[in-house]
Amino acid sequence: MAAIAEIDVVPILSGGRWLKVMPQRSGEVYNPSTGQVIARVPFCDAPDVAEAVAAARNAWPGWADTPAVDRARVLFQFHHLLAERFEELAALVTREHGKTLAEARAEVQRGLEMVEFACGAPSLLMGDSLPNIAPGVDAETNRHPVGVCAGITPYNFPCMVPLWMFPTAIACGNTFVLKPSEKAPLSAVRLGELLQQAGLPPGVFNIVHGDRQCVDALLVHPDVAAVSFVGSTPIAKYVYQTGTAHGKRVQAAGGAKNHLIIMPDADLDQSVKALAASAYGCAGQRCMAGSVAVAVGRVADPLVEALRAHAGGLRVGPTDGREDVDMGPVIRREHLQRVAAYLDVAVDEGATVALDGRLPPENDAFLLGPSIVDRVKPDMRLAREEIFGPVLSVIRAESLEAALDVGRRSPYGNGASIFTRDGFAAREFKHRFNAGMIGVNVGVPAPMAWFPFTGWNQSFFGDLHIQGVESIHFYTRQKMTLTRWFGSGADSHHDPVWKTRRGDQ
Ligand code: NAD
Repeated sequence: MAAIAEIDVVPILSGGRWLKVMPQRSGEVYNPSTGQVIARVPFCDAPDVAEAVAAARNAWPGWADTPAVDRARVLFQFHHLLAERFEELAALVTREHGKTLAEARAEVQRGLEMVEFACGAPSLLMGDSLPNIAPGVDAETNRHPVGVCAGITPYNFPCMVPLWMFPTAIACGNTFVLKPSEKAPLSAVRLGELLQQAGLPPGVFNIVHGDRQCVDALLVHPDVAAVSFVGSTPIAKYVYQTGTAHGKRVQAAGGAKNHLIIMPDADLDQSVKALAASAYGCAGQRCMAGSVAVAVGRVADPLVEALRAHAGGLRVGPTDGREDVDMGPVIRREHLQRVAAYLDVAVDEGATVALDGRLPPENDAFLLGPSIVDRVKPDMRLAREEIFGPVLSVIRAESLEAALDVGRRSPYGNGASIFTRDGFAAREFKHRFNAGMIGVNVGVPAPMAWFPFTGWNQSFFGDLHIQGVESIHFYTRQKMTLTRWFGSGADSHHDPVWKTRRGDQ
């Protein structure tokens, strides 16, 4: 392990200046593929946060007054830089998160698409109007930025989730303070550097680091107008409650327990590939990861067998600098232990471990192979709790109705998919399953940038979701104007210059 003095300190960005501060409290950033500490991250406290918010507040009037097309031009340039450094960004995501390079590339691509969406802001910001809403009166609405926005992001998409937020927020004329995950803050720093290179004025985008203390300082700061959060459900709820109690608009996306329903008529081969990719992609650390397979009727035995064969063949290993790996490590050793403990919970609760992914403890990488737990019941912990690792539970259901009931009993409501050849079953599922993002023969029904990320229940707190037009609405407030013009006095009736013929179009 490198000596502490040699380990780089992750900088904060405040008012256009990169600062390496090291307050009393700090954290470590690991490379999950090697188990080594690769950076130290400062845990900012209220004064650091106040400085970043003040910088954002000062930059706001100038940026809000910058024409939307000019703001978009900065984002076009940012997009160009991101595309140019695509491979570098993917490698950085792999280094600090541990996902495979292919998964990291997909993450950067999804993030790039958010910038493409934000570049369309001038069209999306247009208001509505209705001339002559009353005799001689015209009505119109315009969208205005809300002010300083804050973003608080999780470790599992260190590049994409920040890009879910700030490009749209700043395209709408807001300024931004990002608090990336303290477990994976390096990609966010690189994004900040590229934004500067793209020509973004100082103070429009700022970065602070830390844990609860730093987040609390943002949530109570009077100059923060809006908060976007993505993370686990308990923290999402806390952020929503605290932020709204302090008068802010908040969108808070939480955790998940995603169901994949397999009907007896499904294409087994295709379904198994899709299920495995959904459950084990990013080592199960995705809010849209398939977590519970609901096998309907006679498909259960062949499904579990085929899943076991497929998952057992996945190449598990360190990902940093390697392409020949299907599944990488999880974020931390403690997380590995927490996830692996669910296999003991499964046995205690009477389920059957059909594939045990626990690996010999000697490797330094935080590796855990794919696991399958069969004969899980809806009231067991494996069915109810978010595991956030490569463990797929299988619930056996008698009918589609019973599968829908499994969904009804889940407190979450992010994603769910059905695998079938039957249009009626697909339609019933789409209409009635208790989740906000639905897939039909799709393993991960995650919407792309142009559509909202519509989590339901405990998977989302707020009203306007992240991505798509809803995000434009979240980052703007409307102004409605009614206009009436009177003729210019008695003279105008006699002066031909002012004369009009009412009714002419
Ligand atoms: P997390 O909730 O632990 O952390 C998310 C953010 O909250 C981080 O920036 C962290 O510093 C901060 N935080 C942590 N504890 C806090 C506290 N007590 N008070 C205030 N802030 C706190 O989540 P994570 O482990 O980084 O990420 C994984 C979670 O994120 C999973 O639950 C996953 O489902 C969820 N997630 C959801 C979505 C979605 O769109 N719904 C997307 C990605 C991840």
